[in-house]
Amino acid sequence: MICPNCKKEIAAGSNFCCACGAKQPPETAYAFSRGRLVRSINDRKIAGVCAGLADYFDLDPTLVRVIWALATFIPGPNIIAYVVLWIVLPEGFTGTAAVPPPAPAPSVSPSQPTS
Ligand SMILES: [Zn+2]
Repeated sequence: MICPNCKKEIAAGSNFCCACGAKQPPETAYAFSRGRLVRSINDRKIAGVCAGLADYFDLDPTLVRVIWALATFIPGPNIIAYVVLWIVLPEGFTGTAAVPPPAPAPSVSPSQPTS
C-alpha cells in the first residue's frame, strides 16, 4: 500500500506510515468484509439476518435470535422488519469468517517442494 500523505510504499495493513507517521485509512478489503451490515452466509438459521445484526453490533448471534424471537410476540412490525432486512441486506461473511485471511506467504517456500 502507498501512504496518501508522502506517497511512500509502506507495509500492507499499517495503521501509521513508517516514513511520515501519517494515520492510514483502513484497508478496503477489511472495511468491505467487516463493519458492514450484511446477511450472514456462513451462520444462518433462516436468512442470516440475526447473525448479520449480531456481527454488526458485536453481539452473540444466539442472543440476537432469542431477542428477535421474543420480539415477535410484541405487537409491531417485527416480522415485516425481518423480511425487509432479508430483502435489502447484501450477503456477506460474519464472525470469524469475516476476518480476512493472512497475507499469502512468499512464493519461495523451503517446506513445499515443487516436484
Ligand atoms: Zn507517509
